[in-house]
Amino acid sequence: ERKELHRLRREPTRTLDGVDINLYANAESREDVAEAHALGATGIGLYRTEFLFLQRHELPDEEEQFRAYRDVVLGMSGRPVTIRTLDLGADKADRTGLALRDEPNPALGLRGVRLSLARTSLLETQLRALLRASGYGPLRILIPMVSSREEVREIRAQLKRIARDLRTQGHEIADHVPLGAMIEVPAAALALPGFIGSIDFLSIGTNDLVQYLLAVDRNNEALADLYTPLHPAVLRLLRDVIRLSRMRQKPVAVCGEMAGDPLYAPLLLALGLTEFSLHPNTLLELRRVIRGCDLGALRKRLPLLMRARDRAGIEAWVASHATA
Ligand code: PEP
Ligand code: MG
Repeated sequence: ERKELHRLRREPTRTLDGVDINLYANAESREDVAEAHALGATGIGLYRTEFLFLQRHELPDEEEQFRAYRDVVLGMSGRPVTIRTLDLGADKADRTGLALRDEPNPALGLRGVRLSLARTSLLETQLRALLRASGYGPLRILIPMVSSREEVREIRAQLKRIARDLRTQGHEIADHVPLGAMIEVPAAALALPGFIGSIDFLSIGTNDLVQYLLAVDRNNEALADLYTPLHPAVLRLLRDVIRLSRMRQKPVAVCGEMAGDPLYAPLLLALGLTEFSLHPNTLLELRRVIRGCDLGALRKRLPLLMRARDRAGIEAWVASHATA
């Protein structure tokens, strides 16, 4: 079976009825990027930049960040690379003094884009480094923890200004750097019709979306049973976000852990998803499962899935579509 999976490195991620599915990789190190490339990932769908800021006291400067981002772009040799701006908060072991300490509710605190917008020189340095890296290959910028249209528009304005500065200073940067939003705060999902026009692509972060939608701490062991994407509210939100994105022709991926679980692949395909972003660990396994799926048949089974009234109903649907 390992050999069979190994062979799939060179095969397309194509459903039985001939639809190509994009498998992007989540990455946070050189090794992940090399592995993603070797496995034939469509690109990097989520590059987490937090690790550059953790386990140290000083902030990485523009040069250090630029080199790190450029190396990811070069490492994927022309395939698109999606780099997320810093998603730091009091929930992470930050020693740089950037995040607030002792927040009563770190998950609801100054994190993600909120922190970036509150620390303007931090944001400026990161955006400069990212735009400079865009001169080396296709790069997209992804904003974490978006909850409103204003946040996206503020980042877009900064990008425009910084791009102008960089060009004046003689840097070669890409003509167009797509800007995307993580959809992981329920408010962003619900308000999406009002700001989808302001973004170029979306990535659904189910890890946080499930946590915020169900009011279940994603790290609380005592609630592990309650923390699941198999809830009618989660499915409904996923369906609506994917449907709207497809209607407006904006690329949409799921980049939470859910996307890397082969058991959920038929469900996500039924919801209309054609882009997954997952850790390289399970990429080939997911490719194998998707190659056994009939997309048209799954889409027809969506109404049945949406009629499920509870977790048991959804689990029954999932079980009946599990591929061997
Ligand atoms: C998510 O929230 O689903 C996500 C992909 O981001 P992170 O796990 O880094 O919060
Ligand atoms: Mg998240």
